[in-house]
Amino acid sequence: MVKSSVVNAVAPNGILERDARPRPADEAAARVWDVAATVLDPEVPVLTIEDLGVLRSAAVVEGRAHVTITPTYSGCPAMETIRDDIRLALESAGYGEPVVELVLSPAWTTDWMSEEGKRKLEEYGIAAPHGHAAASGHRASGLGPIRTTGSVRQPGPIRLALSVKCPQCGSLNTRELSRFGSTSCKALYSCSECQEPFDYFKVH
Ligand SMILES: [Zn+2]
Repeated sequence: MVKSSVVNAVAPNGILERDARPRPADEAAARVWDVAATVLDPEVPVLTIEDLGVLRSAAVVEGRAHVTITPTYSGCPAMETIRDDIRLALESAGYGEPVVELVLSPAWTTDWMSEEGKRKLEEYGIAAPHGHAAASGHRASGLGPIRTTGSVRQPGPIRLALSVKCPQCGSLNTRELSRFGSTSCKALYSCSECQEPFDYFKVH
């Protein structure tokens, strides 16, 4: 396996805010970020919370480390574990009484997952989210919001009709078995080529 060098490019302030990994430019804050960024997602332990885009900010305020995280979905049971793991990691790095804050808005989107994270997810055998969340797609199109006629009922988030690629054989000939896989972040799929079931990390 080729070991890719991770480029932690810091985007200029404000640009691509929703897509870029918001590693702080400030040196002390970046050290806190780097410690928190080592924490793994308990559900997919090959992904760090930085890969997932769950880690949102890091700072040092009056000598104490402050970290904010945004859950992948509200009520995600992994968040308490993640919060404890960040505290532990910071304490072992010498930060006394670190503060880990849950920020719910703006809501997490699969757009925040890094390309590195998506690659690791596929290697782990989970199909990575493809495409962009509906909201940012509309923004990017420049056509303004798409109006639907009153007859179309949309009870929940808009589902994108995208083919999901089998992480085992790469076939696009797959079908959804269940909206919910091993966790509610994922859907259970089955591949019609290799017959293997797999989890798909849903776009939202
Ligand atoms: Zn397959």
